[in-house]
Amino acid sequence: MGKLLNCREVAASIAASVKKETELLRKEGIAPKLKIVRVGEKKDDIAYEAAAVKRMNDVGIDTEVLVLSSDIKQELFIREIKKVADDDAVHGILLLRPLPEQIKEDAIKYLIPPEKDVDCLNPVNAAKLLEGDCSGFPPCTPEAALEILNYYSIELEGKEAVILGRSMFVGKPMALLLLREDATVTICHSKTENLSEVTKRADILVAATGKSRMVTGEYVKEGAIVIDVGINVDEKGNITGDVHTEDCITRAGYITPVPSGVGSVTTAVLAKHVIKACKNIKLRSE
Ligand code: NDP
Repeated sequence: MGKLLNCREVAASIAASVKKETELLRKEGIAPKLKIVRVGEKKDDIAYEAAAVKRMNDVGIDTEVLVLSSDIKQELFIREIKKVADDDAVHGILLLRPLPEQIKEDAIKYLIPPEKDVDCLNPVNAAKLLEGDCSGFPPCTPEAALEILNYYSIELEGKEAVILGRSMFVGKPMALLLLREDATVTICHSKTENLSEVTKRADILVAATGKSRMVTGEYVKEGAIVIDVGINVDEKGNITGDVHTEDCITRAGYITPVPSGVGSVTTAVLAKHVIKACKNIKLRSE
């Protein structure tokens, strides 16, 4: 019988070290600051924003939220983002996505300067990740998954890692992060054939499909580590992951829970990124 990994403990450990760094910066007269840009009133965005603001407060990072109307025209949106990007008091910028369809991501993805792009919207940060250059910012969610694996000293070198999902925000960066740790990585997607045959090879299985509880016991190798990135709402309004936890726990070694799993670590990684951005900007100005 497997066990649930305590992800809140991972988040608390990251937050504690971020808090110490924040205190040092404040002693030098620097107030680390995150600006969150939200377009519209989507429930998911508001929930994530609230969690992020709370986390920043807890670790001593200032936060400001810019709320733009959901029908904002692209031109005005670009002007607003440029203003945020040019604000010297802002060290990190988080743009909540997905954006409304009138705003084309291709037209805006370079607007947040790479050094303030704490959740990897700018392709420069994606390219750094591809190159294995640690000076950039991977997206917070896959990095949170890696933090969990590292916190529990789960060996990655030479292990078979299978990722369900190939989005730019979760699946692909997760693959690159695990590759950087010398895992042997396979990415699956909706067209993968014989999916359970592939996933059953995994020592580490990461589920990021957005399909509630789709990963059942038959997908899981005996003793595997299962990281459930999914956040879904089922027909009863409950938050569910992409993993059917009760079904998988009899086969898996460890599983991350949902809620209070990867998502709880994501905001701690965001705080870590803001401090890294702040320190980099400080170094450049010295
Ligand atoms: P996307 O919808 O962008 O991508 C989903 C991926 O899963 C796609 O690559 C898709 O394949 C693949 N997929 C869908 N169905 C299947 C299937 N039946 N078998 C195999 N692969 C499948 O989602 P995201 O990557 O943005 O998010 C994934 C999950 O992570 C969601 O539940 C989301 O809510 C959650 N999430 C959690 C966060 C956190 O902080 N914990 C933050 C961000 C996201 P294809 O490319 O072929 O369509």
